Amino acid sequence: MLGSSDAIVSTASLMIGVAASSATREATLIAGVAGLAAGAMSMAVGEYVSVSAQRDAEQADIAREKQELVEQPQAELRELSLIYERRGLEPQLAQQVAEQLSAKDRLAAHLHDELGIDDTTLARPLQAAGISALSFALFALIPIAALLVAPASLREPVIAALSLLSLALLGALGGQLGGAARLPAALRVTIGGGLAMLVTAGIGRVFGIVAG
Ligand SMILES: [Zn+2]
Repeated sequence: MLGSSDAIVSTASLMIGVAASSATREATLIAGVAGLAAGAMSMAVGEYVSVSAQRDAEQADIAREKQELVEQPQAELRELSLIYERRGLEPQLAQQVAEQLSAKDRLAAHLHDELGIDDTTLARPLQAAGISALSFALFALIPIAALLVAPASLREPVIAALSLLSLALLGALGGQLGGAARLPAALRVTIGGGLAMLVTAGIGRVFGIVAG
């Protein structure tokens, strides 16, 4: 669902704005495809930058932990066993667990139980960027598909209607997944998206008159 409503709102608003300026169907379609590409790239860059920062912080934590394990192994073992004590183990058992896990893979035990880092949670900037871009592109296809099926005289209302319907469904689904009420979640995103489309339609119409 990552960026799904962003993709629908921004692409639909862009296309409705262009269509409202009395641009041709082809120009509106090009605007939609350009909006899809621009949005997907911008999501990818934003995600890459933010997940890279997270990865840098993780790498710094891992480097510090490695150094501490070399410089003060006894204190680190004690630290690990205290973590298990705080989770409810008896001191003697906690000490045993710490020793056995350390014997197996000392660094992994510390990363997992002290820092909450393991192979499955490591930040992956490129992967995150790809998923964001793909997700944006998929949802941006909704208003583009709406233009393709709409009769020429109804392209703006059809783009708006299909986009708002998708937003309502996504909003309801998001509300349900989050355990919240579905109706308010659906209404918020639908009203917000509708306002965005109205604003760009107005701007497109005014510019179409002024420039045309
Ligand atoms: Zn440690």
